[in-house]
Amino acid sequence: MKEIVLASSNKGKVREVEMMMMDMGIKVIPLSETTFTEEIEENGATFEENAVIKAKAVADVLGVPVLADDSGLEIDFLDKAPGIYSARYLGHDTPYSVKNQMILEKLQDVPKEQRTARFVCSMALAMPYGAVLTTTATMEGEIGYEIKGENGFGYDPIFFLPEFGMSSAEISPEQKNEISHRGKALRQMKEEIAKLK
Ligand code: IMP
Repeated sequence: MKEIVLASSNKGKVREVEMMMMDMGIKVIPLSETTFTEEIEENGATFEENAVIKAKAVADVLGVPVLADDSGLEIDFLDKAPGIYSARYLGHDTPYSVKNQMILEKLQDVPKEQRTARFVCSMALAMPYGAVLTTTATMEGEIGYEIKGENGFGYDPIFFLPEFGMSSAEISPEQKNEISHRGKALRQMKEEIAKLK
């Protein structure tokens, strides 16, 4: 495999995947540089189902290998919400500073041991001949008590990593890549790709 299309035009994700695929000699093409313009309805019930839906939808049209991911935050006290609805939770256009504050309020009097949470990421690689490879990984942590840190994005400022004593918005991007759900799922996918060769 020499090239894969990434079913995302998010610059951060494209750069991350590009960097990680470089040592395998695989070129990563963002969706925005392809002819694919259709809207994909992500109506799966799990992260994995949504990643497969995205990857297959694009691979079916373009006829090339396509990598897609789906990720989100599960908060145990909220019955694993926001889960697959992480992006649209509390309003798609609500700033994360507000969403994060609202989550802290929902967990106001909840003791530390009940604040467990995880980020989950599923990756799917759809081949033009129909086969699909999938991987799923998590980053375990807790919902903190305050908004902390400037790195990362989304829910990172309220996601506390006990082993670092910091939020995932306080650790460096390199550290996050080492331990993150996305980094782990992508490394697992690289192992799956290596087996194909
Ligand atoms: P998607 O996989 O790009 O659809 O992302 C889903 C949503 O999950 C994002 O919009 C964020 O709200 C949340 N999310 C996923 N990964 C992370 C992360 O590493 N940090 C913070 N929020 C994340």
